[in-house]
Amino acid sequence: MRLENEVKFDVIEASHMGMCFGVKAAIESAKQLASRRNVTILGELAHNARVRESLEKLGAKHGSLADDKATTNDVIITAHGTSDTMRTKWQNLGYRVTDTTCPLVHKTHAALSQLVASGYTPLVIGKADHVEARGLMGDFPTAQAVLTVHDVHELKLDTPSRGTRLKIGVVSQTTQQITHCEKIILAIKKKFPHTEVKFIDTVCRPTKQRQSAIEDLCTKAKLIIVVGGANSNNTAQLARKCEQLGCISYHVQSPQDLRPEWFAATRRVGLTAGTSTPDELITQVKKKLLEISRS
Ligand code: SF4
Repeated sequence: MRLENEVKFDVIEASHMGMCFGVKAAIESAKQLASRRNVTILGELAHNARVRESLEKLGAKHGSLADDKATTNDVIITAHGTSDTMRTKWQNLGYRVTDTTCPLVHKTHAALSQLVASGYTPLVIGKADHVEARGLMGDFPTAQAVLTVHDVHELKLDTPSRGTRLKIGVVSQTTQQITHCEKIILAIKKKFPHTEVKFIDTVCRPTKQRQSAIEDLCTKAKLIIVVGGANSNNTAQLARKCEQLGCISYHVQSPQDLRPEWFAATRRVGLTAGTSTPDELITQVKKKLLEISRS
């Protein structure tokens, strides 16, 4: 029999979770700018409806990098970055460009440029239509993205001119899983056995920390609540990772999504969140979990 006020389960938080410093800094710059001037954000600063709403409340508008006009004189490039070509396009169109590209995305651009300058054929491990991958490939017409081993099997690379050997230079989108990148590199080496393949590990530190934190969390709890927007790819990836590690995971967008019946047979519940999830939302979900635990 349960005693009054006895908790049904403990809530264990991942040691690293939620919004990374790159996205936080970009949101802060955008908020400051939006409170002073009319601005258009070229893309999404975070894949989260609440973040979007809070920026729009300050008057910020949303547009797309692919457009060639905005209704404001100021435009903002998001933390995911863009190509030099795209940045210059907006400057040449006469807009005042505020660039909130994360320094770790800049580092990935520099790694890819360095590979191309050294004669490597550029590949990016990531989603071809993701804004970060598009930005990385935007300055290099021969660059291609590979996300899966199947993509590697389908990959066709131009044969270099006579007398030069094919060399492949690879970077990854900053939010990929490093174990996944290693699998892709092996597949590339298998497909091109007599080719030099150079991989520069550009998975960012916050991503690596969140990945190892989830592995640790899954040793402590078998039911994990993952907080994040429905359109947040990395939140969905975290939920999938939990399942791969043998846990049950529920992807929730707000405290209202939590169902008390999920916790009927558990003593420990893990809590984590995607890199676009604001801290206050994580706090609200934790508060609701504690209420359910005490009810
Ligand atoms: S996920 Fe990594 S690279 Fe991307 S904004 Fe955050 S810290 Fe920067």
